[in-house]
Amino acid sequence: MQKILISSCFLGNKVRFDGKTKTLIDPQIATWQQQGRLLVICPETAGGLAVPRPRAELLAGNVAERVIDELGNDVTKPFQQGANAALALCQQQHIKYALLKEYSPSCGSSEVYDGHFQGKKIIGMGVTAKLLTASGIKVYSELTLAKLMSDIVNIEM
Ligand code: SF4
Repeated sequence: MQKILISSCFLGNKVRFDGKTKTLIDPQIATWQQQGRLLVICPETAGGLAVPRPRAELLAGNVAERVIDELGNDVTKPFQQGANAALALCQQQHIKYALLKEYSPSCGSSEVYDGHFQGKKIIGMGVTAKLLTASGIKVYSELTLAKLMSDIVNIEM
């Protein structure tokens, strides 16, 4: 039975920067939870960041990628620590699939905000999604949940 790493905020946990959740309501999530497949992490709190916390965005440039919060603080290190914690959990639990929140500077897997705090999205990956992908873990989002469901069914046939 394949295990799945899942963003904590999808399961109703109030771990987002604004102290809120992003509960993902889908019968499949409840089924996976009952089956004990889901391993939960919030990379940002795992990296030591508080709830609530200032909004953060990726600053991609010519130098190494950095994460800056809306107060101008460089929060790259806790983001990287959170990504490392997520990868360690995947390796300990032999997890090959992750369901992570799109657009997050940690969890986004297709698009993220552009670093100017003006609501503009660009193609890119959050710090955790990028590390997991580079490590051979398939990362999905709420927008590709159906694909994750079919991939899990196919691999377990
Ligand atoms: S880091 Fe990921 S799990 Fe944590 S609040 Fe943001 S999107 Fe949710």
